[in-house]
This record gives sequence, C-alpha cells and structure tokens, in this order.
Amino acid sequence: MDKVSIVDCSCYEEELVYRSVKDAVEKIGFELPSDKRVLIKPNIMSQNRPEQHTITHFQVVDAICRLLREKGNEIIIGESIAFYQKGLAMKAFETSGIGEVARKYRAKLVGFEDIELVRFTRDDSDIVGLDEIFIPKILLDFDMVINACKLKSHSAMRFSGAIKNMFGCLPGGYKQKIHLWTHNEFELSDVFIDIHKIIKSELSIMDAIVGLDGGPTAMGKKVNTKMIIASENPAALDVVAATMIGYKTGELPILLQASKRGMIKSFEDIEIIGHKRDFHFKRLVKKDLDKPFDSDSIFVKHTYVDLEVDSRICSLCGKCKDSCPVKAVSKKNGGVHIDATRCINCYHCMSICPENAIEINPTPMNRLIWVIRKVTGL
Ligand code: SF4
Ligand code: SF4
Repeated sequence: MDKVSIVDCSCYEEELVYRSVKDAVEKIGFELPSDKRVLIKPNIMSQNRPEQHTITHFQVVDAICRLLREKGNEIIIGESIAFYQKGLAMKAFETSGIGEVARKYRAKLVGFEDIELVRFTRDDSDIVGLDEIFIPKILLDFDMVINACKLKSHSAMRFSGAIKNMFGCLPGGYKQKIHLWTHNEFELSDVFIDIHKIIKSELSIMDAIVGLDGGPTAMGKKVNTKMIIASENPAALDVVAATMIGYKTGELPILLQASKRGMIKSFEDIEIIGHKRDFHFKRLVKKDLDKPFDSDSIFVKHTYVDLEVDSRICSLCGKCKDSCPVKAVSKKNGGVHIDATRCINCYHCMSICPENAIEINPTPMNRLIWVIRKVTGL
C-alpha cells in the first residue's frame, strides 16, 4: 500500500523545516541513500521570490540538501523555467534563494534549458502522450531523483503537485511546444506521466507550508496550510494533497490518468501517516474535464522562440546538425537551415555552436514577456 506522511510545519524557520522534512521522510520508512549522486527537482518556474509562494521554498530545499549531505551524497539541483529566455534558469535559482542553498551545501545547479536530449518512443518505452518524448540526458545519470514540489491549485491544469512538477525537467521552449501538440488535460497529463515513467523520482516531498490558491503565478493567494507531505509515490501524494484542498479525485484528469496507467493502485487504498485536514482553496477549476485547450491562445501558440542561423559567422562545422535530436538542421544552398516545423525548441544547438551563430528570433509575445520580466523582476 502507498504511504503518504503529513507532518505539521507552521512556518519556514530553518530548524523546524529540517525536522519536519526529516520526520516526513522517516514516517514513510524511506531510507535516504549514502554516497550517491542525487538530483533535487524543485518547482521554481520563473524568477519568483520565496515570499510569493509560487515556488518550492528554499528552506525546504535546504532541509533536503542537509539530509543528503549528512549521508555524503553529491547533490545537483535542476530546473527549467517557463517561457524560454537564455540564462534565466540560473537567475531564477538566485531569486528563489536556492542558489545560496546550493553554495552552502556545495550542490551543483543545472538549468534544463538548452541541454542534450535523449529520445524515447512508444516502441521502446512506456509512453503514450505523444509518439516520442525527449528527456535531458543528464537526468538519466543520477542514482536518485527527489521531486521537491509545491502545493498549488492551478488555473489551467487545476492542480500542481508532484506529478506535474517533473514537467519542469524539459527545456522551456520544448514545454511550450508540448502545450501546442496536446489537445486537452488528459493528453497533457499523459505526457507528465510519461516523464515519470522514464525519470522515476523515488521520493517526493511537498512544500505545503504555505499553499497557493489560484496559481501557478503570483496572482494566486497564499493559504497557510502548514504541512510537509512526503511519499515514494508522487501520484499518492497528489491524491492526498489535492483532496485536502477541496478536489475530488474524479475531478482531476492528472489523477485519473495516473490511475489508468497504473501509477497508483487505488485512490482509497493509501496509508496516511498523520492528520489529513480540509482547506478551502476557493479558486479550484471546475470546467468540463475534456474541454479542449484553446489552441489559438497566444500563450500556447506564440511563446516559443524560433531560431535563425547567422550565415555571416557560421563556419559550417555541422555541430548543430549532428546534435539536433529531431534532425531539424540541414545544410542548404551553402548555408545552414533550421526547419521550424520539425524543431522542438530545445535550444541545444544554440548552446553548442562554437561561433555563436545561432540566434533566437522572439515572437512579439516573447518580447512582451521579457519586458514584463525586466520591469517586474519576475
Ligand atoms: S554549429 Fe554553429 S557554426 Fe557550426 S554549422 Fe551550426 S550554426 Fe554553423
Ligand atoms: S534545431 Fe534541433 S537542436 Fe536546435 S532547437 Fe531545434 S530541435 Fe533543438
């Protein structure tokens, strides 16, 4: 039977959070590894600050790092942000306070924004959301992955917890493309579950000390839920957390798909260690479950950034062509051409080009997001 622990934690005071996280992990009987390489995947999302409660609080990440370092583990903290902007993942580590935590525990920070990807298909893996999915290669090299998620109700996907958090492992531009290719919450939920089937986070720890009602952005309202929740099964954790804020399991495509695909045996058959409570998140989304996504939405259609090759400085070395996971790069008419219809916007070619000849060609929507980010610092 899946176990989910719920531990009281009234605020983000360092020692209290450390004890609560430790307690939550021990209560589910999970043994942290020793002398291994462990990746922590927090939910950072953008250049948000801890007091906005849109992101996994740095004290929760600090507590996880401390527990891991006590056992001699090497720590890597990784995230990609929504709406690609070069270098912003590293900046977001700083605004979130997680950069400072990484220095304290000598953890390495990795932005999953323009890195090498590995292809998985329906034929060689247990994926169903799309015909193929590309996962950062680095994510397949860890001994263990800890999913450090945040409790939020979500204006588009209803609920954001442990299952959805791992979507942030994909580069930002690629995430936007996946939003374009999926047609409703069931299909997008299947992609989230595909990522779990490949990456397999062994431990999920939710920052539910302050939850966000009406997230995922800072427009949401904070709710003092005062808990740390932990489980080995991200789906079981989400069942417990989502029902505590007011959802029924049948109202969440993400949980229905998790159940259908065997991620969780039964919604009822979960051993809860601790006290389940009821919170009144007022902004729960109650639209029809299979309502199609608005494929013409500017946030879906116009937020990934196309690439252009500057033929004046390109040396025709071919590295971009060799490294492209979808073969979107070709040599044509004495130059290099990127086929935007094939490109998945992983931006890896841009990061490895020795001449810096690949440039981004942002849409007006992206320019607007960048201006908003610059003005607001978010
Ligand atoms: S990697 Fe850069 S320099 Fe090499 S072919 Fe591609 S665009 Fe040109
Ligand atoms: S051309 Fe290829 S490597 Fe470059 S961003 Fe597109 S998919 Fe990625």
